[in-house]
Amino acid sequence: MDVDLTPEMADYLVLIYVLTYGKGHRYAKPTEISRTLGASKATVSLMLKKLRFRGLVVKERDGVSLSQRGVSVCVSILRRHATIEKALMMLGVDHDKACEVARKIEVVVDESVIDLVERETVEFGLPCDKATCRLESALKARRRS
Ligand SMILES: [Zn+2]
Repeated sequence: MDVDLTPEMADYLVLIYVLTYGKGHRYAKPTEISRTLGASKATVSLMLKKLRFRGLVVKERDGVSLSQRGVSVCVSILRRHATIEKALMMLGVDHDKACEVARKIEVVVDESVIDLVERETVEFGLPCDKATCRLESALKARRRS
């Protein structure tokens, strides 16, 4: 990925993706984001500002949506998440732990490493739906903190 992201920023991108594309809506409301993540309005507003600054999120009249670049970064996050998670599970790590670790490292691992891991694990199926899994890991991380 050609953009610096934290796992928390990735959480927001995936959530906005699920709230818009996943539900057939054009935009996600900040209140909906705040409610889903259990984050304050101020926290959500600050994070959305950071994502807008990076050109990943666009402000609409009634909410926010992912920019074209935001969508492609989000798709890349989901691919990275699934790839790392799958590789860890093949090594015997259970799904919850694999998911938790994948969320932490998916934003920093080199693209070439992801490509390699993906090639090596391609014959194995995914344990779960990518977007749902990644979103659940975001919510679990919040409950732990
Ligand atoms: Zn996961």
